[in-house]
Amino acid sequence: SDARVGVPVACARADAKLHVRRPPPTPLSCSFACGTYRRSNGRQKRPRHRGNVHVAAKTKEGRDVEHERVHARECHRAFVAWVPRAAARDDTPSFASQETKRRTDVHLGAMFRAVHVCAWRWRRVGTTCRWMQVDETRRRACWCTCAWKCEDGAWLERGNDATAAGTGWLGRNALDARPESLQTWAKHAMKTSQAWVEVAVAEAPSPSTVHALDRLSDAICQVLDAAELLRNVHQDRTYASTAQRVCNELNQFVHELNANPQLHRAVERALRAMQAKGCHEKCETFLVGESLKLEFENGGVHLLLEAKQRWQRSQEAEHRAAVAFSRNLTENQKLGSVEVPLSMLESHLPKHVLKTLLKGCLSNQDGIVNLTTDSSTVAQLLKWIPDERIRKQAYLSCARTPVENQGLLDVILVERSTQARLLGYDSYSELLAQNRMAKNPAAVARFLDELWLEIEAQARSELERLRCFKKARVGNDEVAVWDYAFFTGMAKAEACSIGAIQVSAYFHIENCVRGIGLLAQRLFGLEASESNPSRQEVWAEGVRRLDFYDCRQSHRGTMYLDLYPRPGKFNHAAHFTVRCGICNDKGMVRPPIVALVCNFQDSETHLLTHQEVETLFHEYGHAMHSLLSQTRLQHLSGTRGALDFVEIPSHFFEHFVWDHRFLRCFARHHKTEEVIPRRMVEHLRASKRMFQAMDMQTQIVYAVFDHRLHAHPPSLGADCSALFRNVHNKYSVLQQPEGSNWHLRFGHLVNYGGTYYCYVAAKILSRLLWEMHFEADPLSEEAGRELALKLLGWGGARDPSIILVGKLHMASPGLLPTGRSLEDDVGRTCLSFNEEFHFRHFRPFRHNFVRGLLRMDAVGGPTPVVWMHRRVRSLLCGSTGPGR
Ligand SMILES: [Zn+2]
Repeated sequence: SDARVGVPVACARADAKLHVRRPPPTPLSCSFACGTYRRSNGRQKRPRHRGNVHVAAKTKEGRDVEHERVHARECHRAFVAWVPRAAARDDTPSFASQETKRRTDVHLGAMFRAVHVCAWRWRRVGTTCRWMQVDETRRRACWCTCAWKCEDGAWLERGNDATAAGTGWLGRNALDARPESLQTWAKHAMKTSQAWVEVAVAEAPSPSTVHALDRLSDAICQVLDAAELLRNVHQDRTYASTAQRVCNELNQFVHELNANPQLHRAVERALRAMQAKGCHEKCETFLVGESLKLEFENGGVHLLLEAKQRWQRSQEAEHRAAVAFSRNLTENQKLGSVEVPLSMLESHLPKHVLKTLLKGCLSNQDGIVNLTTDSSTVAQLLKWIPDERIRKQAYLSCARTPVENQGLLDVILVERSTQARLLGYDSYSELLAQNRMAKNPAAVARFLDELWLEIEAQARSELERLRCFKKARVGNDEVAVWDYAFFTGMAKAEACSIGAIQVSAYFHIENCVRGIGLLAQRLFGLEASESNPSRQEVWAEGVRRLDFYDCRQSHRGTMYLDLYPRPGKFNHAAHFTVRCGICNDKGMVRPPIVALVCNFQDSETHLLTHQEVETLFHEYGHAMHSLLSQTRLQHLSGTRGALDFVEIPSHFFEHFVWDHRFLRCFARHHKTEEVIPRRMVEHLRASKRMFQAMDMQTQIVYAVFDHRLHAHPPSLGADCSALFRNVHNKYSVLQQPEGSNWHLRFGHLVNYGGTYYCYVAAKILSRLLWEMHFEADPLSEEAGRELALKLLGWGGARDPSIILVGKLHMASPGLLPTGRSLEDDVGRTCLSFNEEFHFRHFRPFRHNFVRGLLRMDAVGGPTPVVWMHRRVRSLLCGSTGPGR
């Protein structure tokens, strides 16, 4: 598939060859043999020493600046023009002809060096209107620097940068099956970034300072991201633990960089210089600069030595505790267990679930199986086992182990709060809110409270319904937390007369992967092509690889799919960025690489439940955000933006699996090939609506608990379980039993501490997006293009509230700030919302909106969104509008 490598084909080939070369011994005495270059007076000149231009030396001798600039551009132009010509003369990527190879070696080596040296000098005097061009030149120069700074494995990085995906592990040439290769790569990255530190500090304040820092962060992130994935999923545990060590080392290194006052000052100066030239928050470089500055400040750069050291120790302690917390969740011996009669399992659990559950378990002579209560086992037991006693035991066992996590959580919370206070914030929540859409913790609390108020009445009526249902079946109407999944599942199945198994028959994994490709093709015009990754390329057997190409056959990104569980593997579903994409004016110059990691019930039939399909599309939404983002700098590409924004695209993509118009394109019965019936999808939707408010309450409980822990942290040794019970009993209509330490399994507390509310907000905002742009036609090419261009394309390189307001044409519910001037993306309309306007016209809407969300399909008439739309239009047109 390398033959299909997109932009730039020829460079990729040339680089593929180049990466084996050693760097030339004397970088500054390079020979530059492209013949002519233009002087500042416009006349073409032949170099005096044909093929020999001693760039650096002559500059020091006082060559004029203009000359340098022209020279650099010429040099670059010659390079760009020459490589395709060279490649065109030679059809094979291996440069079969000796003459071509010789010329490649001479020309590319020399030109890279010449471009590099000139570009650096040119950039320092470059004017702002031209900096983008400089960047274009410098991009190639950057690779050059990496290669120079590296004594072993020279040119390695450049080979990696230019080719779509190499043949090493994860498509990275730097990696192979030996764990040591990861360590070598990490060392190389640290060395490279030291070089960038020098560059950034020496720079005159300008956008290029930010660019240099972006390259620095790129050098580290490439290794860190790969190591992060590998430590979570690698089937070889030795490799995984090496990856873990590399992660620790690099995190430590990043913390040190973030605490470097010289870099901080350099960014500050660059930001000031950019501001003076009129850059603002819509300028990507400026935004990256601001984000970097915030990272430095959150890294304690401004602290006095003692406080800084305290901060670092705290950061390390938190990291260690967080890693241990997550690891405990995957170690079966630390989890509890529950005894279940084999006969009961056999008669109630679906076959494929049973098979996964019983893997490696034997029943004793009384026919009792001892099951470890890992989260997925407990979820299955709660859903299927009719014996209330066993459900209760399973729930409590799950809610009381692993015991060690209590202490670890205490440490994490204390350290987080210490860090926040050292940095001058009241709480960790306040610290986090700095780069979130919700700009302060109070907004989060208010948002959650309002939402809860809105749905409470409906939740009560749903509980009433559940009580009646239970009473009719088992004669008592006490609904406990461990009853919820079982009885709601049963009620839904009865009311909607469809079983999960019937639905699964339409979702063979191959169909679903086809569905993914289809959606990319219909909405974004991207073609997916699956190839078999070699054993050297992936971290475990069974990992699949999809490559996406646009209509010009440009490679837009690689997506690995690791869908089934393995011992020791990360046990949730997640999207991992392995390498961020980078664009320039002409398109993608470095396609992103991502991995979707899921844990679907492994079965011989390879059928997914509808919920699993929804999970797959959620993660796929994250992947599309990475693949479609078009940022010039990697720092804010794809899912690297505000966390309460990045969950919106993923939640948005979930909507597709609830729409028959899309499902009928790929969901076919695995035996009969029959298309999924419309009635079945209607039933699925109806069953989704059945206990919606109670489901939402569960989410609110998690969010409020997480928010409280981080906004008002309990003191060390204080009882988190009491807090959890209080929150649960207030925000949910179900009551939590005494002694339940459910938070011991709440992995989100560790990985996304203080931001669980993002999921709740994303549910609402993504629903709104769907309603406004896709409800009419989910496969609309135009809507897809708009989505790619105006939402996903930004990655994190634009304030999400501006994107959303532009996209949703409104000051949206709850979280988004008001009182700012908002332009739509085309710049045609300029709406000005102020606090009073918002208060008068949108506050009441907020409530209607949420209520409407829950009843969306039940009531006729205009949905709140349509109403909202009209209201905004009437306001804009100057009419008074309907008074509602
Ligand atoms: Zn997500």
